[in-house]
Amino acid sequence: MIGSFDFATAGRILFGQGRVKELVRVTREFGTRVFLVTGGAPERHAGIIESLKGGRLELEQWSVPGEPLVADMEAAARKARQMQAMVVIGLGGGSVIDAAKAIAALAANEGPALDYLEVVGRGLTLTRPALPIIAVPTTAGTGSEATRNAVLCVPEKRVKVSLRHISMLPSVALVDPELTLSLPPDITAQTGLDALTQLIEPYLSCKATPTTDVLCRMGIMKVSLALKTAFSDGSRLAARAEMSLASLWGGMALANSGLGVIHALAGPLGGMFQAPHGAICACLLGHGLETNLEMARSPLLRESASGRGYMQRIEALASDLTQGTQHSADAAIGAVRELVQSLEIPPLSLWGVAEADIPEIAAKALQTSSMKGNPFALSAPDIEGLLHRSLLST
Ligand code: NAD
Repeated sequence: MIGSFDFATAGRILFGQGRVKELVRVTREFGTRVFLVTGGAPERHAGIIESLKGGRLELEQWSVPGEPLVADMEAAARKARQMQAMVVIGLGGGSVIDAAKAIAALAANEGPALDYLEVVGRGLTLTRPALPIIAVPTTAGTGSEATRNAVLCVPEKRVKVSLRHISMLPSVALVDPELTLSLPPDITAQTGLDALTQLIEPYLSCKATPTTDVLCRMGIMKVSLALKTAFSDGSRLAARAEMSLASLWGGMALANSGLGVIHALAGPLGGMFQAPHGAICACLLGHGLETNLEMARSPLLRESASGRGYMQRIEALASDLTQGTQHSADAAIGAVRELVQSLEIPPLSLWGVAEADIPEIAAKALQTSSMKGNPFALSAPDIEGLLHRSLLST
């Protein structure tokens, strides 16, 4: 018997090589006053920006050099409000798309961003819907073009938290794999493993649904076939396209089925250390799967529905990661580890994380919304153990 579920995603998805040429036409559908958010190197997309400027559009540009900071988002939202922006475009990686989503939300809702932030703020619901958002990803990892949240850094609290609202689902996700051809190998690896984590966690989540299961399993297969190729030869458009699609599906899945302990840890870690989000997820992936597997095999849960369900799912994961050649939970974890190590991801200690940081990270992880998707309730000692193991190996 199929249980009930909700599924929400971007209003429209335009996927395909060369489709960024349609950006001007699509933007005009929302109006003429456009707030364009790019990364720290907007010259990378000079042609696209010129086409927008030449497209009879009034354009205000905002550049986000790193991951989005709350104070910057408030300043950008004021600019967007002043120009009476009709649409916000995010053209860049997950940081830029999240920034565009936050700006679109805050431009429509005056007052401090902290009013609307979960965990560290008041967590109030937006009173007005966000401005329309067009998301154009240039990395293949976060799937932010299909999620309803923006991850923001709150430096004074040393944490990253989400601003979240259904209206922050982009009106248009324009996914052109050609835009990812310029990604260097290290960012290809980190973002690609973020995509994999965002396909694995919703599949194993206690909130998994039949629709997201299909997206996750197909996406995991794509990553297992394409990521090494994209890493070793970034000019291979077919592999880039597989990764862009897998990333999009990861976003669609996580927005509807939640995540788990790996993302619960990635928020605090990303707020406390200068480590890329995808690298953090990759460092934790094998250990996170192992911690949950230990729970599933524990005498208390072994015969329970949740314990058995986890075993079935991780065995299916093994098959998806190994093109149907292996079917055990241990093989799934082995395949993940082999992939992470072949993409040269260093362990957590190399990003500056030390033993002394572990209690604070674990305590913060327990408060996150991602933790609610984990298949089992984990204690602080469980999470601390996972972190200890992640310090020195992936
Ligand atoms: P990013 O956006 O931070 O970009 C990483 C680096 O890649 C930057 O230096 C950027 O300039 C560069 N870059 C981007 N596109 C490039 C290209 N085509 N060629 C060459 N260089 C390029 O990295 P990301 O992994 O895409 O995004 C990470 C952020 O997304 C984190 O803040 C994370 O918390 C957030 N995130 C959000 C969601 C969500 O659902 N909203 C999900 C996962 C992660």
